[in-house]
Amino acid sequence: MANVLAAASHQLAAALGLEKREARLEARVLAACAWNVEPAWLIAHDTDTLSAAHGAAFESLLARRLAGEPVAYLTGSREFFGRAFQVTPDVLIPRPDTELLVELALVRLPPDVPLDILDLGTGSGCIAITLALERPRGRVTAVDRSSTALTLARRNADILNATVEFLDSDWFAALAGRRFDLIVTNPPYVASADPHLNRGDVRFEPVSALAAGADGLTDLRQLIAAAPAYLMPGGWLLLEHGWDQGEAVRTLLRHAGLAHSATWHDLAGHARVSGAQLSENFTLGRSAAPPVSAE
Ligand code: GLN
Repeated sequence: MANVLAAASHQLAAALGLEKREARLEARVLAACAWNVEPAWLIAHDTDTLSAAHGAAFESLLARRLAGEPVAYLTGSREFFGRAFQVTPDVLIPRPDTELLVELALVRLPPDVPLDILDLGTGSGCIAITLALERPRGRVTAVDRSSTALTLARRNADILNATVEFLDSDWFAALAGRRFDLIVTNPPYVASADPHLNRGDVRFEPVSALAAGADGLTDLRQLIAAAPAYLMPGGWLLLEHGWDQGEAVRTLLRHAGLAHSATWHDLAGHARVSGAQLSENFTLGRSAAPPVSAE
């Protein structure tokens, strides 16, 4: 078995340009998935001879990975905020960057207060489910317009024992009359001609979850303009966006009449999340409140 894994990691390193360590790890993850065992089992069975069936199962997964398919789609799982989420090609693969959005949300959610929380475009459900589990008193609603995504998100909530209200909704469409203390979203925000869409894992992800018009701001613009009508006074809107979109997003937030707009950076040092707050005395229908900036 050791020689099969060694050969596979060489192939992975060459085909995908991975570091040696990363390639060895991927080979082990794929083998554990193909054989339905824990990665630790592989170490203990290093010298075993592979059965033809096990060999074939591994080769077929390896071939798909060599052709570029993301590991998360092959294994069907990805960790987010310390929990395993099922993923399929119907949803974006949860990214560590998005944990920043969760952390900023948690800071605004005192554990003992029952607040209403909304996640727009929930995909796998990783943000909504994490917030529901971290804040059991919170009432979390999550929407998506993709029924396959909603089915998967519901399954993740079941597996992880989270209580989330899932709704089939194109952004705010099904939420008329409702208001939330916190709205979070990781919408599509990549410019549709960005070469990033043709590289690596991203090629296999749903383009509807990634691309948002010529400047990548189509959905962010629409969400920010609509959000004040769905926020409680004092409620926060937090949005993930591209590294170069912070200033544009803060401007949109101010134009929507939201206060205290700010941008936060992810672990890689990229501007990644911006947000703002509906003033306590905001009156809907009034023209935008004077811009307030706290960057
Ligand atoms: N951060 C993601 C990427 O660069 C994009 C995620 C999104 O559009 N919401 O691939």
